[in-house]
This record gives sequence, structure tokens and C-alpha cells, in this order.
Amino acid sequence: MEYDDNNIFAKILRGEIPCKKIYEDSFVLSFHDINPQKKIHALVIPKGRYIDLDDFSLNANPDEIVGLIRGINIVAKKLGISVENGKGYRALANISDNGGQEVPHLHFHLFGGEKVGRMVE
Ligand code: AMP
Repeated sequence: MEYDDNNIFAKILRGEIPCKKIYEDSFVLSFHDINPQKKIHALVIPKGRYIDLDDFSLNANPDEIVGLIRGINIVAKKLGISVENGKGYRALANISDNGGQEVPHLHFHLFGGEKVGRMVE
């Protein structure tokens, strides 16, 4: 499967669609989910053109991989949900059809600010 440059997160990365930005550096962009499922629901996406976590694992360079994983912690701290200054949170990536992925640009959901409940409904 080819990366689709018209997906909504690619448009957000190019600044064509607005977002409620939380954090940005050279590896990641983070913004609030438009349809929050918990009190806090943030998204963290890599800046590179990766469809899903499998694509990222296989094709991203080590700096990009570290940048994304560290980016999740930076965003969690900024939101006050990290282990350091909050009560924790859930990081989740949906992968392809069976995983329920809707937007074909890798993203981690960060859910927090309250108990997030059962892992799979
Ligand atoms: P997934 O099902 O894992 O692909 O999740 C896609 C997520 O993107 C959903 O939680 C949507 O609410 C969210 N979403 C879709 N469009 C936007 C947007 N323009 N800004 C922020 N979040 C969005």
C-alpha cells in the first residue's frame, strides 16, 4: 500500500487544515483529537510519511523512532498525565483494518485525565 498524501493528518502537517496543537518538534506533531473519547485525548504523529506502526518499524530511521517514542513522553508531561506529574494514561495505535485504523498516517492516541477503562470493549 502506498502512502496517501491526501490523508487528513498529511494535510494538518502541511498546514492546510488547522489543529489544536499541543507540541511540535522536528520529529513529531501533537494535537487534540477532534472527537475526544476521554477527558484528555491527544494524538501524536511522526512528521515522516508512514502509514502505520508496521511501516514505521520497518522503514523509519533510528532518530525518527526515538523521536516519536520520546515525543509521546514529552506530550504526556505537557498534558499533566505522565507518570512523573500525573496518574498515567493509555497510548494506543490502531493498525490497519482489523485494528480499526481510519486515518492512514501513523498516530498514537493518548487517553488520560481519568480512568480509561477496559483495554478492549
Ligand atoms: P484511528 O481510528 O486510530 O485512525 O483514529 C483517527 C482519529 O483521528 C479519530 O480519533 C478521529 O477523531 C481523529 N481525527 C480525525 N480528523 C481529525 C482532525 N481534523 N483533527 C483531529 N483529530 C482528527
